[in-house]
Amino acid sequence: MARRKKLYEGKAKILYEGPEPGTLVQYFKDDATAFNAAKSSIVDGKGVLNNRLSEFFMTGLGNIGVPTHFLKRLNMREQLIRAADILPLEIIVRNFAAGSMAKRLGLEEGTALPRPIVEFCYKDDKLGDPMVPEEYIIAFGWASQQDIEDMVALAVRVNDYLFGVMYGAGIRLVDFKIEVGRIWDGDYMRLVVADEISPDSCRLWDIETGRKLDKDVFRRDLGSLSDAYSEVARRLGVMPSSVTHATRPTIVN
Ligand code: UDP
Repeated sequence: MARRKKLYEGKAKILYEGPEPGTLVQYFKDDATAFNAAKSSIVDGKGVLNNRLSEFFMTGLGNIGVPTHFLKRLNMREQLIRAADILPLEIIVRNFAAGSMAKRLGLEEGTALPRPIVEFCYKDDKLGDPMVPEEYIIAFGWASQQDIEDMVALAVRVNDYLFGVMYGAGIRLVDFKIEVGRIWDGDYMRLVVADEISPDSCRLWDIETGRKLDKDVFRRDLGSLSDAYSEVARRLGVMPSSVTHATRPTIVN
């Protein structure tokens, strides 16, 4: 088979040209990075887990009518997606204080928020993805007022879905990040959930023990990242067997 044309390589994923116009192939790497890539490592099987988990969440969202870029999983590490113009924004939804919000407001991590809070960050690694108010987003032309309303509505629906799915698996959804893209059908434009939804972009705590099951395990050196992600996958019934290690060669004596 002809090698696919690489269009973009990011920290955790590679995008290749898709088989049809308007499609792309998204490849999940094993690279883990944090603090704007100041800390990085290879975590065996992470890409396989995130490919499956993102498929699971995107399919679930599609089933309840939330539009996403996801078309189908192709293999262990690749999925077919619709090409979308990604907005230069990260949309963060928080149910409990943690990370940058806990620091900014001097709140203890885990403090319940009065209601889910949606915030926007401007995607720029050099600037460290600063949080931006709606005024900036509109003034700099990154998105319109209508886009912002649509993004908040999408983010709240994603939160309700993810919160419920996680709760059913004994996991607290503390916060998460999504990205959205524009897809055009003729003159009609709509915003869809894009990129990925995985433990790389969520904070997930075991409801009983508080054990962290997300990228904070890597950021804060709390143990094995692949064990944490495998636990999420196992609880959601996404990967019943230890598929994560299937990419390793079997050594027969
Ligand atoms: N997040 C992300 N990518 C980013 C920044 C944040 O996926 O570039 C996720 C992060 O994993 C967490 C949520 O967004 O689930 C909120 O992150 P926060 O603003 O607290 O930043 P952090 O503490 O991760 O720097």
